[in-house]
Amino acid sequence: MRGVLMARRANRRAGSTGLHIGGFERMSLVDWPGQLAAVVFCQGCGWHCRYCHNPHLIPFRQPGRYAWEGILSWLEHRRGLLDAVVFSGGEPTLHPGLYAAMQQARALDFKIGLHTGGPVPENLFPLLPLLDWVGFDFKAPFPSYERITGHSHGEQALASFRMLRSVPVPCEVRTTWHPRLLSGSDLLDMARWLADAGCTEWVIQRFRPDGCKDRELCAAPIGEVPVESISMPGLNIVVR
Ligand code: SF4
Repeated sequence: MRGVLMARRANRRAGSTGLHIGGFERMSLVDWPGQLAAVVFCQGCGWHCRYCHNPHLIPFRQPGRYAWEGILSWLEHRRGLLDAVVFSGGEPTLHPGLYAAMQQARALDFKIGLHTGGPVPENLFPLLPLLDWVGFDFKAPFPSYERITGHSHGEQALASFRMLRSVPVPCEVRTTWHPRLLSGSDLLDMARWLADAGCTEWVIQRFRPDGCKDRELCAAPIGEVPVESISMPGLNIVVR
């Protein structure tokens, strides 16, 4: 796994915590709906989604902009004022220091949220007991992951999602949609798959051009999510 090796190298440079942090949001109400959360954006992602609106967080080679120790000490003074810490990215599960950082934030009584696409299920597994909520990025029909991410990691993402479904951790399944990347038939496949898996809600986020470097995607008309033609019994589709 090239991404994992790159993350390890970057983490050696990041210091003892092994958490390479490219961004930090002190207060957010949108990264974990319903919770007031601080958001830690981990630096580095093994995927290259064309619609990525945080492309500066993709490379592993950039030095981290924030030290975890500094964030932790800031969090100590926000106990009781914030509900949660969300680890986002990039892809946080590629960082060996994530487990320790989550433990430390939990010890301060913060709830722990995670944004992940699940590229490495064996990295996700040990984190499960620490998680209070997950935002899982369902990129495409699993056999078509390469079209979106540049890597054929659909099986890994599927294994991660099955793992998340097997534990009592609330999980929001969400998909970024651009009609140039996911057709109506792709969305229908995904909806069918979620309904068959027993999911009751699917969040579809319309592509937003902010931060995206792909000019073709930014220029293309988007239109409305074809909710009616992909509806499934028992699956509530929420468009954001
Ligand atoms: S997985 Fe997320 S961070 Fe990585 S390239 Fe895709 S959108 Fe960007």
